[in-house]
Amino acid sequence: MRKITIAIDGFSSTGKSTVAKELARFLGYIYVDSGAMYRAVTLFAMEEGYINEDNFDVKGLILNLNTIEISFALNQDTQIADVYLNSINVEKKIRTLEVSNFVSQVAAVSEVRSMLVKQQQKMGEEKGVVMDGRDIGTVVFPNAELKIFMTASAEKRAQRRYNELIDRGDNVDYQAVLKNIQERDYIDSHRADSPLIKANDAIEIDNSDMTLDEQFQKVLQLTLKTLKDLE
Ligand code: C5P
Repeated sequence: MRKITIAIDGFSSTGKSTVAKELARFLGYIYVDSGAMYRAVTLFAMEEGYINEDNFDVKGLILNLNTIEISFALNQDTQIADVYLNSINVEKKIRTLEVSNFVSQVAAVSEVRSMLVKQQQKMGEEKGVVMDGRDIGTVVFPNAELKIFMTASAEKRAQRRYNELIDRGDNVDYQAVLKNIQERDYIDSHRADSPLIKANDAIEIDNSDMTLDEQFQKVLQLTLKTLKDLE
């Protein structure tokens, strides 16, 4: 059967990655979490001292982007690809609230974006890919056969992210998680380069009141329809 490109964009913590992973597994497609790549660059910037609470040395980061190598490798336990920064598995480290607090500033840097967009386009060259992010349907794969835009209320998204962080043992406060989501929504949708916007041809799904299974069924049904229309 013909393989297509599926772009899933939307606001932070809309559950894009959960649905995207499940869909990729079902279809036998590659799943790429583009947010993990921005998070890995952010972790690099934090560890190398280019970004902290008081300062962001954008120039220093840009000059050292060529020392960053991001890759993915399958985790046998979860059967999902973990992200590696310069050959070190950083899957857990990139999901902290600290990284979330800086990632949108790092993702607003055009040089960071162009480096990662090139890598993402390469990963999707052969099609058969489900990629989630903020600019996948608008910039990375403007010709994707299926584009989905996920939304949900900020409160619902914060509650989901809070539960995830607590479940993995992080000590976080709900209000801090909500504030981070609202700040990222703002920066991601107002930056000059590739702001988060719904592509004209994307299908919007508000999943505030949908279970994970309902979301998966909806996205699967859209995928099967797209494949049928292309026959
Ligand atoms: O998807 P996730 O919440 O992990 O993404 C983290 C951040 O990375 C987003 O808030 C956004 O600033 C940035 N990002 C982006 N473009 C993408 C994916 C993520 O700017 N395609």
